[in-house]
Amino acid sequence: MNMPKIQIYNTLSRKKEAFAPRVANKVGLYVCGPTVYDYIHIGNARTFTTFDMVSRWLRVAGYEVTYVRNVTDIDDKIIERAKERGIPFAELAESMAQAFSADCARLHLLPPDREPRATKYVDAMLGLIGVLEQNGLAYRVPSGDVYYSVRGFPAYGKLSRKNLDDLRQGERIAAKGESGKHDALDFALWKSAKPGEPSWPSAYGAGRPGWHIECSAMAASVLGTPVDLHGGAVDLQFPHHENEIAQSEGAGHTPFTICWMHGAFLNMDSEKMSKSLGNFHTLRDVLAQQDAVQGGEATRWFLLRGHYRSEINFSWETLADAANSLRGFYTALREVPPAPAVTPAQAGAIDWSNQYAARFRDAMNDDFDTPIAFAVLYELRGEVNRTRSPELAGLLKALGGTLGFFLADAETFLKGAGSGIDVEAKIAQRAAAKKAKDYAGADAIRKELEAAGIILEDKPGGATEWRRK
Ligand code: AMP
Ligand code: ZN
Repeated sequence: MNMPKIQIYNTLSRKKEAFAPRVANKVGLYVCGPTVYDYIHIGNARTFTTFDMVSRWLRVAGYEVTYVRNVTDIDDKIIERAKERGIPFAELAESMAQAFSADCARLHLLPPDREPRATKYVDAMLGLIGVLEQNGLAYRVPSGDVYYSVRGFPAYGKLSRKNLDDLRQGERIAAKGESGKHDALDFALWKSAKPGEPSWPSAYGAGRPGWHIECSAMAASVLGTPVDLHGGAVDLQFPHHENEIAQSEGAGHTPFTICWMHGAFLNMDSEKMSKSLGNFHTLRDVLAQQDAVQGGEATRWFLLRGHYRSEINFSWETLADAANSLRGFYTALREVPPAPAVTPAQAGAIDWSNQYAARFRDAMNDDFDTPIAFAVLYELRGEVNRTRSPELAGLLKALGGTLGFFLADAETFLKGAGSGIDVEAKIAQRAAAKKAKDYAGADAIRKELEAAGIILEDKPGGATEWRRK
């Protein structure tokens, strides 16, 4: 596709910039993956869905993308949880990593090209720590831990733009009694082994890596540096990504990353959804409450229809609304079968001079502006319904397909799972009954659906939407 340059908001400069990867037409994308100690919640799912959308769109834009999303399979939380459950940490990590892949598939996330696991890169981490030590940026304390010396890296804080003195103040209070650190902001590169904990041999004695060094080592090992695009949610800006920069650039990988992308939170009642606050729904729970055929794509729609840099709020109503929207699209595609569908892999076949396609593309090229791109899809759907043009229906399916939507067979999708009832057909029958003033008949259909757990909602303007109880 002959595309104009993509603009991406770079957290480092706090500006939208023309994206210019290290090698023209190639993108190395590194996303900080899950710590596999439990099922992911719908907030985590938002971040991973955002970067699935980003990787898909970069490919549509003609880039050869290597998408890397690591798995943190060694961490305090994993060790603790495995201990509670009386199983080896590796067993817990393995089962949760598998659950994570299954969860991602339900949201139609494409598997990343590489999913490095931290425990397989311990040598690379130790190599990096060795270089930092030579550069005077790492020191050992008597307990055997190795710390990064923040004072030795003058650019520390450049990503998060935090006031370091304020932070030091806070840290000093929090870390009172912690032994041997030269500066309150210094962080662990290597943690000496405690009895009963997993460990690896090293020049510093048996131990395990700190979280931050894992990503610095895996990103450099798998992609090389500079990494073109590096992402996570905003909570990773500090300290995680700040520390990744300090480690990697302190070891000579300068710049470490060209463009930093951070997604906004998914909130519950205006507060960040998080495991520690206890205000979360696992993705599994959210999917279990929805139709088995429609729920994954509906959740994806809900997660992507807001801009990735705007917070979104979770509610069952908005999720039901997303499912309704999606059914509207599939209904249009069922009524007007698309002309030979262009699959996302053949996005090259999309006619970008079409005004809908052009506006969709311009929105996506402007820092992945999905709200505008979705608005174009809604408009195009209206046009398909009016004109009944198979070509426009094909374009609708193809544009949606670039973001991982409308890929199912319309009939199958609309039928849904569970009830086995074709709800859309029932709604049409009910509308016909109402038109013929057969109100008892119309009511019987409403009751029949209700018994199957399906609630109808008549909207102003005459349309009827439905959701599950
Ligand atoms: P974790 O497994 O806790 O490291 O989280 C995995 C990813 O989910 C990280 O990129 C986090 O920044 C992100 N994340 C955690 N909570 C939320 C939330 N409420 N909304 C969006 N992303 C989140
Ligand atoms: Zn990371």
